[in-house]
Amino acid sequence: MYCPKCRGEYRDDAVFCPDCEVDLVPEIPPEIPEEYVDEPWVELHSFSGTLYAQMAIEMLNREGVPAFSKSLFAGSSLGVFGGADLVGDSTAVWVLEPDLERAQVIIEAMISESADELDDDDRE
Ligand SMILES: [Zn+2]
Repeated sequence: MYCPKCRGEYRDDAVFCPDCEVDLVPEIPPEIPEEYVDEPWVELHSFSGTLYAQMAIEMLNREGVPAFSKSLFAGSSLGVFGGADLVGDSTAVWVLEPDLERAQVIIEAMISESADELDDDDRE
């Protein structure tokens, strides 16, 4: 188990980092690749729940768009985006500014697809 904040490693049965007072996670979040640290990150979209945020990131990565979620940033040792900014279960997905428009198109397609699956009500 790992602490998402200080990135410390704990025993498998540990659940809590006493230093950071945060819950441990089974996998350590990826760090921002060094070549992207100084890049202009912008918030793309806020998802309710980490599942959708994770899906969005995977989809963006498949399209060659680097993306990270804000909760991962908050756990980063880099301190660039220090301070958790989570409202309830919402997780913000961030992309590089030059990729923003492309990322929006990808994300909107994903959101409308999942909305179709959840209910057939056509709101457009
Ligand atoms: Zn910790």
